[in-house]
Amino acid sequence: MKYIGAHVSAAGGIENAPLNAHEIGAKAFALFVKNQRQWNAPPLSEKSITAFKENLDKFGFAPRHILPHDSYLINLGHPEKEGLEKSRNAFLLESQRCEQLGLLLLNFHPGSHLKQISIEECLKKIAESINLTIDKTKNIVLVIENTAGQGSNVGNTFEEIAFIIEHVENKDRVGVCIDTCHAYTAGYDLKSESGYEVVWKKFDETIGMKYLSGIHLNDTLKGLSSHVDRHANLGKGILGIEPFKRMMKDNRFDDIPIILETPNESLWEEEINLLYNFTK
Ligand SMILES: [Zn+2]
Ligand SMILES: [Zn+2]
Repeated sequence: MKYIGAHVSAAGGIENAPLNAHEIGAKAFALFVKNQRQWNAPPLSEKSITAFKENLDKFGFAPRHILPHDSYLINLGHPEKEGLEKSRNAFLLESQRCEQLGLLLLNFHPGSHLKQISIEECLKKIAESINLTIDKTKNIVLVIENTAGQGSNVGNTFEEIAFIIEHVENKDRVGVCIDTCHAYTAGYDLKSESGYEVVWKKFDETIGMKYLSGIHLNDTLKGLSSHVDRHANLGKGILGIEPFKRMMKDNRFDDIPIILETPNESLWEEEINLLYNFTK
């Protein structure tokens, strides 16, 4: 069974996110657990936490199908002490908020070396950040998202992600989310049928299918190996609709959150509906 949704708004209170997801026919969703452009946030109120959990029950969402996304400000591989500490504190805060909400996953972009340290040093700092966060939380699984490799962002190859996981002490608490737009622009050809099989085989051999905890389903405006991150609505970019049709028939993506981050939100309901039709 597929659990498909989108990155919905939590404006006006976190408890509105499940409602917004339900309204577009989603069975999974992503959200920010605080304002993604600010470092700090007022604590979640008991009232909000209770209402959020009630809405999950009411609309039939299971915590394992909800994939919160961390703030864009956070860089867990920051080359400087101050920036690294600030990022680690903010990441811990977000992990704790997820746990307060009864959520099980937190998706994040690994980090950037900012041209000040090597890729390997940056990856090691990220793994250390994950270890520190795991030590201070109970059960949240930290989900590394592959990147397009834009600028100095690390984590655009399966090898780099595998390297991070290798350096994580408690491997039960780490997962991976594959963004289809990022994968393609990083050089993984999911477009052709033969390419698709090669990419997922490579993923399994390099990282391991058991780590796959979520999918970001996006078409792309930029080409293979362009290393530019520009999402497009499904079938409206270079990937076209075929790779998404293929994924919906592929049971390797059962029971994990499959999340749209496509730019035109007014198409989400239609896209979710289309994807569910592909599963039949
Ligand atoms: Zn993504
Ligand atoms: Zn992206």
